[in-house]
Amino acid sequence: MEIAFLGMGLMGAPMAANCIKAGHDVVVYNRTPEKNEPLVKLGARAAATPAEAVRGRRMTLICVEASEDVEQVIFGENGIVHGMPQSGEPPFVVVDHSTISPIATEEFAKRLKNDFGALYLDAPVSGGTVGAQQGTLTVMCGGPLEAFERARPVLEAMATSITHIGTRNGDGQKAKIINQVVVAINCLATDEAVRLGQALGLDMDKVLSAITKGAAGSWSLQNLGPRWLAGDFEPGFRLRHLLKDLGYCSESIDHLEDKNAEYPAIWLALGIVARAVQAGYGDENIHAMEKIFE
Ligand code: NAP
Repeated sequence: MEIAFLGMGLMGAPMAANCIKAGHDVVVYNRTPEKNEPLVKLGARAAATPAEAVRGRRMTLICVEASEDVEQVIFGENGIVHGMPQSGEPPFVVVDHSTISPIATEEFAKRLKNDFGALYLDAPVSGGTVGAQQGTLTVMCGGPLEAFERARPVLEAMATSITHIGTRNGDGQKAKIINQVVVAINCLATDEAVRLGQALGLDMDKVLSAITKGAAGSWSLQNLGPRWLAGDFEPGFRLRHLLKDLGYCSESIDHLEDKNAEYPAIWLALGIVARAVQAGYGDENIHAMEKIFE
């Protein structure tokens, strides 16, 4: 397929690379142009703006950072709406892989449909940079079935678990929020368990190897526990991005009709992550959240 791909960050670059390797014809755009170079070596063409990237194409994928960044690459000064075809068949499809607000997502989808005749699929991913490199991501999609079916061949180049969560735009982002709640609370549990084990004088390599095979086992314990012990906080998933995602979770809870609903573990995780980002650990991997207690 002929596609554009906007955002060559830790996730977007390997995702775009897998699209190219699967035989898709890809135009890449990144705000910092140097990050396009490895993709150009793989066979992509680089564009100077999002508008230029989508010219003559009928689909774009996006993997930038937060709601306001997605808004900028779509509707901003040099955004895709200034370059994409606004008539003819099939309709233009925007696939957003960034993790952003479900509420903003609904609004972007409405604007694209009403003002530009385009379809929108929110398609946030899980699986980290390793999943992005290996093409084994999990994708959670929200939006019209037509957009999902059109995007499927490209999604298959990047992911092994692809689910159409629902036909409402925002359903994919809501599913991603649920994913992030589990990620944040599991990470907190891992950090705290390892710190306590060390304080109790245990050989934590041995303890981790024992307990990851039992009822306590989780992706977090298996992957982040050893990294805490090794002092390895190199970012795969930045802590400030987890704070962003828990912010979208908090916004979604605020929009619930039931104002008495209680989610104490979410507030605890959010508070700790916010303090850690404030303390300067935002660009480290998420398990740096408990460094503030060291
Ligand atoms: P990253 O390495 O920080 O990259 C962010 C990308 O967004 C960069 O290409 C950046 O361009 C671009 N960008 C940010 N604001 C922009 C703007 N206003 N206009 C144009 N481009 C903009 O982040 P990442 O880890 O790839 O994450 C990308 C998204 O995927 C986030 O929403 C994140 O929450 C989500 N995600 C990440 C992971 C993970 O493990 N890392 C896993 C699942 C989901 P520059 O290069 O110019 O800065």
